Amino acid sequence: MSATIQGGPSLAQERKLVTSIPGPKSQELLDRKNSAVAAGVGLAYPAFIVAAGGGVMVDADGNSLIDLGSGIAVTGVGNAAPAVVEAVQDQVAKFTHTCFTLTPYEAYVDVAEKLNELTPGSHDKRSALFNSGAEALENAVKIARHFTKKQAIVVFDHGYHGRTNLTMAMTAKNIPYKSGFGPFAPEVYRIPGSYPYRDGLSGAEAAKRAILAIEKQVGAENLAAVVIEPIQGEGGFIVPADGFLPALAEWCKANNVVFVLDEVQTGFARTGKMFAADYEGVTADLVTTAKGIAGGMPLSAVTGRADIMNSAHAGGFGGTYAGSPVATRAALATIETYAKENLADRANQIGEIISFTFSDLQKSDSRIGDIRGRGAMMAIELVKAGTNEPDAELTGKIAAEAFKQGVILLTCGTYGNVIRFLPPLSISDDLLREGLGVVVDLIKANA
Ligand SMILES: *Cc1c(COP(=O)(O)O)cnc(C)c1O
Repeated sequence: MSATIQGGPSLAQERKLVTSIPGPKSQELLDRKNSAVAAGVGLAYPAFIVAAGGGVMVDADGNSLIDLGSGIAVTGVGNAAPAVVEAVQDQVAKFTHTCFTLTPYEAYVDVAEKLNELTPGSHDKRSALFNSGAEALENAVKIARHFTKKQAIVVFDHGYHGRTNLTMAMTAKNIPYKSGFGPFAPEVYRIPGSYPYRDGLSGAEAAKRAILAIEKQVGAENLAAVVIEPIQGEGGFIVPADGFLPALAEWCKANNVVFVLDEVQTGFARTGKMFAADYEGVTADLVTTAKGIAGGMPLSAVTGRADIMNSAHAGGFGGTYAGSPVATRAALATIETYAKENLADRANQIGEIISFTFSDLQKSDSRIGDIRGRGAMMAIELVKAGTNEPDAELTGKIAAEAFKQGVILLTCGTYGNVIRFLPPLSISDDLLREGLGVVVDLIKANA
């Protein structure tokens, strides 16, 4: 639209409303969207963005909104981060595409080396690059099946792995992800995981329940892979009880089952460590990554044990755009930025501010059922006062009203009653506190 407006950290870091939200220009674009774009592509917060950076997004009407979502945990380094912009601009001026599996380029190899080094475990690894998180999950399953010569895949209650046909089968929640879109891929089995707030089980107890379900309902001799998010994202920012993930990993190892950690949402400094699995020293056979990997450029990866990754024939993995030159250059700049700016530490500071804010409120308000998460991946689960009954209505209302007040706030959870905080790690303390203040006031006002 406006050719002159620039994003990035130099944008004024302020919440500023100059129209109602959405304003007239966004409303006009929304009308065009409704006439041109399929209805299935729904919009949660219909402010059309013209620039973003630091901790704000500016819309077509000139409103400046506080960003507490990072486009779903993608822009960890900030939107239009200078190092990413520079790398992308440099690359597009050189060449935009070759298809790596025809005529290769160095940045793809650089990203593979980085992922092999940074993902948990010091064992010999290989990586393969793709475009989206779902595509990485699809390929992790292909690889596990090819390696084990087995077919079954185990996933968990509240799990989310994407929207392609196989990953819809792997995703738990019906509306909006699956309803009417079946039949789904076969040989995907869902079992209970660990949800401390709701099941009250220790990690060892939850693992025992899960392993029993796997053995009785699937059988290790049929099972290619167990696929799990180290913190469940869309399902409600559910941190499993201590010991749950290590026990599952151990069982997989003993039973020739590939243990796949889906770090698509949790990866890249978001949780206060480079990967969420680092918290319990869990080493996966395969790790899937995407979202925070490339500052907003589409890129994903499967990284894992060299023997597993190398078991498939040449030509078995690929894709026209997979690991594009532009996305891989963006990823290198992004990964460098996480280290250079100590963004894992910054994620922890952000997490402390969020948990402090809501712990205080929770003392006087029993509707804050649970406060959980790690680093800058925090959430509050809202329930009816004095119970643990989910309150999706209150949750939706708070997100909708926060938007009108200039705060982009995401929700999640199987029961739709979780507010999740995923600010860019480039947000300032002041802006973060202001955004959280809006949420606190809305919770109080809706008592
Ligand atoms: C978002 C997400 C995916 C899917 O990624 P897309 O890029 O949207 O395909 C898979 N797994 C997890 C844990 C996610 O959060």
